[in-house]
Amino acid sequence: NAPLAEVDPLISQAIDDEVRRQAEGLELIASENFVSEAVLEAMGSVFTNKYAEGYPGKRYYGGCEFVDVVEQAAIDRAKQLFGADHANVQPHSGAQANMAVYLAALNYGDTVLGMNLSHGGHLTHGHPLNFSGISYKIVDYGVSRETEQIDYDELARLAEEHRPKLIVCGASAYPRTIDFARIGEIAQATGARVMADIAHIAGLVAAGLHPSPIPHADYVTTTTHKTLRGPRGGLILCRAEHAKEIDKKLFPGVQGGPLVHIIAAKAVAFGEALREDFKEYQRQIVRNAKVLAEELQASGFRLVSGGTDNHLILVDVFMNGKGITGKAAEKALEAAGITVNKNTIPFDTNSPFIASGIRIGTPAVTTRGMKEEEMRQIARLIAEVLHEPESEEVRRRVRREVQDLAARFPLYPRRLRRRVA
Ligand code: PLP
Repeated sequence: NAPLAEVDPLISQAIDDEVRRQAEGLELIASENFVSEAVLEAMGSVFTNKYAEGYPGKRYYGGCEFVDVVEQAAIDRAKQLFGADHANVQPHSGAQANMAVYLAALNYGDTVLGMNLSHGGHLTHGHPLNFSGISYKIVDYGVSRETEQIDYDELARLAEEHRPKLIVCGASAYPRTIDFARIGEIAQATGARVMADIAHIAGLVAAGLHPSPIPHADYVTTTTHKTLRGPRGGLILCRAEHAKEIDKKLFPGVQGGPLVHIIAAKAVAFGEALREDFKEYQRQIVRNAKVLAEELQASGFRLVSGGTDNHLILVDVFMNGKGITGKAAEKALEAAGITVNKNTIPFDTNSPFIASGIRIGTPAVTTRGMKEEEMRQIARLIAEVLHEPESEEVRRRVRREVQDLAARFPLYPRRLRRRVA
């Protein structure tokens, strides 16, 4: 029972280094966040030792009385948070949540209408290399060239023409409000079911800052670790009529034993999300994204769709060859202590490995307590690096400023002290 530092110095050192990296840098990856110490504690609990195949009250293993407390709390809180009939809190990830829904709603070879990856969709929405693209006939919709926002008329036309069994909406890199009501109408008119994957915007939906898909979708899936600020994992919400089928398809269909320590941490995170201060946190995420967007535009950058309604911004850094690639931008910013990811933009002429854009999100820096003033500073730092991406001197100067800024908004101070001590 020796401490990790003695048992495994390599891993212990890597954890120390990662704590410091997270604390000293600026985390602007739109899909990342910092969980609370309470969530971390639940994740690191002895529930990792427990097998609990089945569901509360109906397990294939003994000794599940406390597991049931944890899973039932997670289910009840998730239902309350989103106003859903039914919740399955066991998916190990967003991809597995989506897989269970596909298994419940479709037969192999059925037609799915999903959002094109390069227009903001996710791999699991029908990419040819993903199980979704391998197992089903995929028709994709996207954004219009003019507005760079979802072309709902075209989506309706495609649904009419192809009569998909499932319409998948929700996105990984879409900065605008999604009209779930409109998609629900299109599905009704064409006899399709709807899966809304709100992985990115779940926190905003929970806080009432983005229209909820719950009234319009048969199934709602999400990850729990993005704006929702829980542990890495997935969640499925559905209408009562689909509950049994969803539970059966997730276990034993897709997964074996649930990760009970993660479910405990989900319960803690959902509890946090039910508090009033979570709503204010989400409001600040959106305010921060708006300011960051305006400031970047003022510095000469083109934003896909011209702005943002949510927690993320897609910046066209390539500008048809006049700028730099997304790959180069990501690398230059990383060297300056600012973490973003390269991202394709709609109708991108560069491959996904190069990409013309970068995706920037405010959930993580907002968790640290940063507000509009810091967003102006961050926009200036990003612009300085991207206007001179090769300059070592600029990178060094920005990196120093990033460290000063980060130090003013401490992250996991107790952990950092303990680790460094
Ligand atoms: N769905 C969307 C919209 C996502 O953005 C993501 C993650 O990036 C996923 C699903 C998959 O989640 P995970 O990485 O947990 O499998």
